[in-house]
Amino acid sequence: MKRKGVLVVVSGFSGVGKGTIMRRLIEKYEGYALSISATTRAPRDGETDGKEYFFHTREEFRQMISRDELVEYACYCDNYYGTPRNYVEEQMARGKDIILEIEIQGALKIKAKYPDALLLFVMPPSGDALRQRLTDRGTESAEVIEARLERAKAEADGIESYDYILVNDNLEDCVDRMHELIRCQHWQVGNNEEFIDKVRTEIKGF
Ligand code: 5GP
Repeated sequence: MKRKGVLVVVSGFSGVGKGTIMRRLIEKYEGYALSISATTRAPRDGETDGKEYFFHTREEFRQMISRDELVEYACYCDNYYGTPRNYVEEQMARGKDIILEIEIQGALKIKAKYPDALLLFVMPPSGDALRQRLTDRGTESAEVIEARLERAKAEADGIESYDYILVNDNLEDCVDRMHELIRCQHWQVGNNEEFIDKVRTEIKGF
């Protein structure tokens, strides 16, 4: 039974551990493709162009928008982030489950365009745990951390737009739960239209 891949959107507050969860999911389970976003944010230490992100100037980003090369894009803390269209569409057609790690404005645009997408929101075990992780990561200045915590306050009101929450209490448990939720989504009616149509036509032909 051939099926198209599931489009999975993963959001969560800055510092909640989304990147670590994604890396572990891909390492542990097969069949996933991780979309690489375009951004105008400067690379962090250790980040490489084409690996974590495609890093662009604002002008280049504007051109990508005008050429309709992005499935969605959003502004987050003064920088632009967007999902390149080609890779997402190719991987879905190949039956891969494609994961977009994006913020809430983008998540809502994806849900509007692809109603069968699965929207997951990663939560910290507590508010204090989030602040601690963001500080411990040491990749952002105090000012940027405050801006990201401010942003988290707004994002906290959007959680009800998602299908499921994932609590990042223990990395392995969280990764396993994510994999299970995605497996369930394979059986969602909207993700099996071709198969349903085929069997329906056969039955109607009796
Ligand atoms: P960071 O700067 O920490 O890498 O990412 C900041 C935020 O931008 C995170 O919430 C991340 O999920 C989001 N983000 C990354 N790529 C995209 C994208 O392509 N589109 C949207 N809408 N958000 C993104």
